[in-house]
Amino acid sequence: MEPRLYQLSTRENSSFGGNDIEMPKVSRCSVSQCSYNENESCHASAITVGDKPDESRCDTFVQSDINGGFKKTVAGVGACKASDCRFNERLECVSPNIQVGVQDGNSTCLTFTMR
Ligand code: SF4
Repeated sequence: MEPRLYQLSTRENSSFGGNDIEMPKVSRCSVSQCSYNENESCHASAITVGDKPDESRCDTFVQSDINGGFKKTVAGVGACKASDCRFNERLECVSPNIQVGVQDGNSTCLTFTMR
């Protein structure tokens, strides 16, 4: 059986930047309690923002005895459910990068900007 190839181009029609937008990077995360965090850097491959629609919390936050991710990995934003954010298109983040930190006791996307 022939392997199938899938094209991953969910952000190609973004009004923020045209075709082939890269996955936004998590340029800084200060949530040191998270298992993916080391030295204010997130090492998950990709995070999801918004544990519920229209919230800007990091849904990938986890506390564990395991050190999450790989040191050379800089996390990207795989998906974002915060549809009230001006950087959100079709439940995808189109900001070039984001910062995550603690706000009101929760790990939160600090780049969130209300439309
Ligand atoms: S900047 Fe907005 S769209 Fe991007 S991850 Fe943060 S809340 Fe989601």
